Amino acid sequence: MEASQDFARAEQPRLEAPALKRINILGVTGTIGQNTLDLIARDPDAYQLGAITAHRNVADLASAARQFKAELAVIADPSLYKELKAALAGSATQVAAGPSGMVEAGAHPAEWTMGAIVGIAGLKPTLAAVQQGHCVALANKECLVSAGEVFMQQVAAHDTVLLPVDSEHAAVFQAIGANPSSAIEKITLTASGGPFRRLSKDEMKEVTPRQALQHPNWSMGRKITIDSATMMNKGLELIEAYHLFPVEPEQLDVIIHPQSIVHCLVEFTDRSVLAQMSSPDMRTPIAFALGWPQRIEAPTKPLDLIELARLDFEAPDLDRFPALRLAREVLKLGGGAPAVMNAANEIAVAAFLAGEIGFLAITALCEQTLEAMMQLSALPAPQTLDDVFRIDQAARRLAREELPRFAI
Ligand code: MG
Repeated sequence: MEASQDFARAEQPRLEAPALKRINILGVTGTIGQNTLDLIARDPDAYQLGAITAHRNVADLASAARQFKAELAVIADPSLYKELKAALAGSATQVAAGPSGMVEAGAHPAEWTMGAIVGIAGLKPTLAAVQQGHCVALANKECLVSAGEVFMQQVAAHDTVLLPVDSEHAAVFQAIGANPSSAIEKITLTASGGPFRRLSKDEMKEVTPRQALQHPNWSMGRKITIDSATMMNKGLELIEAYHLFPVEPEQLDVIIHPQSIVHCLVEFTDRSVLAQMSSPDMRTPIAFALGWPQRIEAPTKPLDLIELARLDFEAPDLDRFPALRLAREVLKLGGGAPAVMNAANEIAVAAFLAGEIGFLAITALCEQTLEAMMQLSALPAPQTLDDVFRIDQAARRLAREELPRFAI
């Protein structure tokens, strides 16, 4: 009897259409944006694409807008407005451009927004998304590193659910679960160690941008791949973790784990340690954020521990990777220091990629800029976005002035 009743229930017509999730993707043409589209394309009936944005890549922006019938497409560079308009002629997608268009995209009504714009340009559009008071999946680092206090105040004020997309932070979010802050003893982020994990400092002096762009495990954009090679990426992630989770700087740690399978370790007061594991593929943390609070399917390679056979862990070498040491100091300094380090690092990475400075000079320039800035002012914590932009601009100017001292 039971079975036939179940069968009858299964045959009932569906009374309600499946809920459609309205989503925006800020930064749709980068690695995170494209991986988000990849997940949506696997279940197109579940999502309605609202606003999507790109920096300068008109072709990919227009093709995403057409394929997913986006309501609004915004190009950050206003000189490309006409080109985008022409590329979307005859479609129902609205077109906008420039800084105001980018903020309009962030404010476009949506239940879920992917904040994946690279750099300081992501601040205002992502804040506009936060102010909607729904769900923001965050991949942009500057929101937390440069504008941490200002950004998190807005998240709290609008009761926004902030879902970290960075693999380590998505892992910590899952491992903490419903535990209160008083139960957390320590959060450890894992780091692959990048392509130069085994190089001596002398060898690192000579590495080229081409070598630094070869990440052993992850496929990512150029800036973050260089940041992984210097380990500045892990330093920035420590600062992000400090803002995302209820811990003090001393409760945050980094451990080298070359296989990038374990993404975090959260130790609780009872000495239980919860780790999150998955194959290194950004579609898993993105799927976690996209499906939250449910789980959805991701096309990631299933984890096979027998095939992997071993997982290795070692302490990071702060002498060979001084960016990690600098980031720890900056985290303790707080105030405007993280914004300065981040701005100087962007200038330094661009100069390294352009062949103007050597690999070791990247962190040296960050340290030099920070010292110069601290001599000029006390670097109090920015209270507004304008404060953040002022500190960022000043740090960039100083870093550019210091640059010739590090020239090859
Ligand atoms: Mg990461």
